Amino acid sequence: MRYIVVSGGVLSGLGKGVTASSIGVLMKACGLRVTSIKIDPYLNSDAGTMSPFEHGEVFVLDDGGEVDLDLGNYERFLDLNLGRDNNLTTGKVYSKVIEAERRGDYLGKTVQVIPHITDAVMDWIETVAHQCSDDSGLEPEVCIIELGGTVGDIESAPYVEALRQFQFRVGRDNVTFVHVSLVPVMGPVGEQKTKPTQHTVKELMGLGITPDILVCRSSAPLNPETRAKLAAFCHVPQEAVISTHDVPNIYHVPLMLEAQGLCATLGLKVQPNGLLDDWRRMAHHLDALQENVTIAMVGKYTDLSDAYLSVIKALQHAAMAADRKLTIDWLEAGELEHGVADDVHADAWKRLRAADGILVPGGFGHRGVEGKILAANYARTNGVPYFGICLGLQVAAIEFARNVLGMEGSTSTEFDEDCPNPAVIFMPEISTTHLGGTMRLGSRPTLFQVDDCKVKRLYGGSESVDERHRHRYEVNPELIERLEAAGLTFVGKDETGQRCEILELPDHPYFVAVQYHPEFKSRPGRPSPPFLGLILAASGQPLP
Ligand code: GLN
Repeated sequence: MRYIVVSGGVLSGLGKGVTASSIGVLMKACGLRVTSIKIDPYLNSDAGTMSPFEHGEVFVLDDGGEVDLDLGNYERFLDLNLGRDNNLTTGKVYSKVIEAERRGDYLGKTVQVIPHITDAVMDWIETVAHQCSDDSGLEPEVCIIELGGTVGDIESAPYVEALRQFQFRVGRDNVTFVHVSLVPVMGPVGEQKTKPTQHTVKELMGLGITPDILVCRSSAPLNPETRAKLAAFCHVPQEAVISTHDVPNIYHVPLMLEAQGLCATLGLKVQPNGLLDDWRRMAHHLDALQENVTIAMVGKYTDLSDAYLSVIKALQHAAMAADRKLTIDWLEAGELEHGVADDVHADAWKRLRAADGILVPGGFGHRGVEGKILAANYARTNGVPYFGICLGLQVAAIEFARNVLGMEGSTSTEFDEDCPNPAVIFMPEISTTHLGGTMRLGSRPTLFQVDDCKVKRLYGGSESVDERHRHRYEVNPELIERLEAAGLTFVGKDETGQRCEILELPDHPYFVAVQYHPEFKSRPGRPSPPFLGLILAASGQPLP
């Protein structure tokens, strides 16, 4: 087992996750089986209770783990299926150690950060690294470990110490330390500045870790003098100074790393397995796309696109497969509602009407819901392609109940507990006292109820599909019969046949909504079927 530890310095947002995933792609191109572990030094047990507004999207895994969005990067780049243990947090490690202490496992010893927390971190890494995370059924050969945060933070210190010790536990030759830093460009001639990198490497070395490879984020490729200077001051060979400069799309990143000899620096050689050729094709295909498709994304955190990262990626995968250049128009759902300033309202509606298709993504809480219901109504009554995910399905059902069944004031009990005719209700099995990890989570089967429907055809005619879930509410099962009689068909249900999973309108170009989150399983080159349906319909192309 070879471990590649990726740490970051200077500031956050340098694309450490993309760099680490891209290194993983190169390892796969060298013929190795890869897995990954993301370390998040916060005290939350998992990302499930964190606001997407603060922390970006909560990524959901097959096993129901609610994890950091970087695990999405790894799954997409490396085509993995990770588990909750691949995201190590301070909350998880401390809980484990404190539980062991309560059991009496430490036999009277004083329990301390060093060695008990650091040992627990090392044990965790070693165990998880050996777990199979793809469909080979075999143990991985390389484990990419991404350390969240910035080296020097108080909260990441125990991890840096654990990783320092880890090189002796598994052998120095089996660990490669990659440090990601920033090279800012200053002044009229665009001078590349090395001092921030010198400082962060000094900090890392002070903590006992000598980087083997420096990855420098910069706007343009590093010039030879910058590279030489960084090598001299940061104690690495020149060929181990790699630049990640701006590129037109992220598929270029693995190619850019390989072009600078990263595999050779790691003592490896790219194998003729065609993987990098696929990436090259995708990178250039994306650059060359001409015809546009515009999707209005009607959401709540629209000024923070990380909150919908996987939805964006899934739209991109689908657009690439449909040969369209994707434009996402972010619409703040609340601006479609009555009662906002006239010009804001008019502008929001103008943009909604200009879009080729409408997507209402998942969400929690009352804000913006009425705007989402209006968007679903507009799409349904005007034949505009609509795709609803999770809350996007629930608002489509509410809209139909109100405007077709005449159930005025119907909503979800999430927004009005005493609503007289709720179209969406709280699921009976969900905890009412604990928020963390208590939703209907993870991969569950959906069984198609009819043969002749768009979504089943998009999924290639399978009888059932496994997709990932994250919700507390569902379409009121008592209402399903009436909704169906009025023309809204529930083409997919769970294995009990009671719970609604997929709905569609038969006599509409594309009015589809799913209770699950198909965005989490979309892959470049293998787009999620209902996303592909939206893009095909929105760009006037035939559906399968
Ligand atoms: N808030 C809704 C529920 O809990 C929708 C959740 C979601 O969109 N992920 O069911």
